[in-house]
Amino acid sequence: MASIMKCVHCQKALKKKTKDHVFPRSWYPKTTPATVQRWTVPSCEECNGKFGEMEKELFIRAAMCVGPVKAEAAGLSRKAVESLGVGVSGLSPAERRHRQVLKTRILKEIRPYKPGTECFPGFGPHPGFPEDKQFEIRIPEKLVRQVAEKIVRGCEYVLAGKRLVEDPYAVEVYFAHDDKIQDVLRVFNRFGPVQLGPGFRVSRAAAHDEPNNVMYKIDIWGTWTIYASIMDRTKLQ
Ligand SMILES: [Zn+2]
Repeated sequence: MASIMKCVHCQKALKKKTKDHVFPRSWYPKTTPATVQRWTVPSCEECNGKFGEMEKELFIRAAMCVGPVKAEAAGLSRKAVESLGVGVSGLSPAERRHRQVLKTRILKEIRPYKPGTECFPGFGPHPGFPEDKQFEIRIPEKLVRQVAEKIVRGCEYVLAGKRLVEDPYAVEVYFAHDDKIQDVLRVFNRFGPVQLGPGFRVSRAAAHDEPNNVMYKIDIWGTWTIYASIMDRTKLQ
């Protein structure tokens, strides 16, 4: 019997065989070998479009904040700036206008960095440059949570035999500084991470007694880490 393919994100039955990249294509640093598999999962066109927009909004902001000399993030800050039309030639007039509008919008969000500002774990002023010459941009927490959950759902599909995270199970995303959660990090020691080139490292740990309860640690660009759990929400108190 043929099973119906469902969207990993909204669980609607797919009418067409459409797919979504677990890690967006444009997020892979240019140091990624061609042999690295770019994971894809079944996704409806609606989710694909919705998450594609979110990923782009997050990418522009996050990639601009990534240390420009890291091999794990090679080429990304440049790509972010180019998506604003800076340093690219040969664009069609329509595309040039589109990027100009985006640039105006993003530039309005950029402020001089105030030393001591709370940053997302992994981000912060770039070492080796004077702090008062640096800039900051706000990354909406909701945007990070939504994109992080999308990535976790994709990883679970790939790593756990095409599992869909369905009710009563739910994905919860956490923000944490590594040094504050040493106990939690120990659970990952027993499980080797899956490395997708220098850009991404995925660690997954399932509970002994309840293998559907899962923890994720996903390292992105050697810079920031998504911590997430998949748990039965009716048993969470
Ligand atoms: Zn969907």
